[in-house]
Amino acid sequence: MTVQSRTSAFTPSRRTFLTGIAAAAALPLAASAQPLLSNEAKAAAAFHPDAPPYSPPGGVFIGSNENPLGPSAAARAVLADNVPRGGRYDRGGEKKLAAMFADQNGLKPENIGIYAGSFIGLYYAGRTFSSPTRSIVSPVPTFDAMFYGPDKKPVAPFHAVPLTPEYKIDIKAMVAADPQAGVIYICNPNNPTGTSLSRDEIRWVLKNKPAGSIVIVDEAYIHYSEAETALPLVAAGEDIIVSRTFSKIYGLAGLRCGLIAGRPDLLAKVRPYQTNPMPTPAISAALASLGEETLIPERKKYAVGVRQGVFDWLDANKYHYIPSGGNFFMVKVDRPGAEVTAALAARNIHIGGSRPMMTDWVRVSVGTKEEMDQFQTAFAAVMAVPSTGQPVKGSGRDTDGVSQVHGVYDGEWSC
Ligand code: PLP
Repeated sequence: MTVQSRTSAFTPSRRTFLTGIAAAAALPLAASAQPLLSNEAKAAAAFHPDAPPYSPPGGVFIGSNENPLGPSAAARAVLADNVPRGGRYDRGGEKKLAAMFADQNGLKPENIGIYAGSFIGLYYAGRTFSSPTRSIVSPVPTFDAMFYGPDKKPVAPFHAVPLTPEYKIDIKAMVAADPQAGVIYICNPNNPTGTSLSRDEIRWVLKNKPAGSIVIVDEAYIHYSEAETALPLVAAGEDIIVSRTFSKIYGLAGLRCGLIAGRPDLLAKVRPYQTNPMPTPAISAALASLGEETLIPERKKYAVGVRQGVFDWLDANKYHYIPSGGNFFMVKVDRPGAEVTAALAARNIHIGGSRPMMTDWVRVSVGTKEEMDQFQTAFAAVMAVPSTGQPVKGSGRDTDGVSQVHGVYDGEWSC
């Protein structure tokens, strides 16, 4: 088993750094945090509609790396207040959010582009910096759905670079993949393996990448990990775009808010794709979330605690897994992953399934403690039954493991 490299603590800005210290100091004393989170979890569960993808009712949905806690208390409060404003377009909210994020992360407002989810910001950036003659270089497996077009083919020539034997992104192979690369995509920590690169490794990529290419670093899960953010490299004016989302630790996936950070001249090239105003609830909830000083350390503590509990259980039961720094992990099932996904779904436990080049593994998101207890019971029961050896149609999230590598995206939009 390979353990990801430990890097320095999450250090987004002077301000969040200081509030983070205050919050961390408060954590051992905050005996009230646990009941608060449990109540939040109950409230979030009550919000699950009895409709796809949250059907059948009563299921455990740990397939899309969502946050089971949902929007924070402050975000919920502003969402309720937002209803009367629903008749107006957003005027200035995007600018306010860009300014607040920039201030918290040592950047300028002009370094930030706000989008209805990081997916669409990444999609536009991918299209902007690739072309028929400038390729996209991406690790495999990773989260690369945004680089595919409506024909399910990559939007540009595509180089899928396998991970190292330690399931890390192979930076040497990435920079060597194509001298004509337009985009080098790095998911940090990587979805689905949860392994991460240090800031120095990303600096190395910037130094050694093909001339004219842009490095896109997707930090959707950075708050759950010990990985260093690449945002200071944006401040330093490098050829880099960093994406962040409000879908994960902030629990706003359905509200759709994300951002890309980059040099103003790079963002100016991406901007023409986006002419639609942002939804006002997304902006309000994101603003409220950024304003909650203890949100990240409290939620990180909860998710990492639950994640460690599952890892301890997997260790005790001798299952092989990758110790992920995300709110998800890959566990080896030594049979087609689709078989396990389907057997768990039959028990109303819905996981993320296998991934290209890891077809005998499945990805599981970290839910609440109660949900992971249910997962463990069901997983042990499923794994106790020998493999059928027969092909199984998975939940739709399982890939056949090869076609994506050969340039056809065969999965559905799957986190
Ligand atoms: N990046 C990564 C690595 C993801 O896993 C996801 C979704 O799960 C996204 C981006 C897109 O997230 P969103 O569009 O909700 O911000």
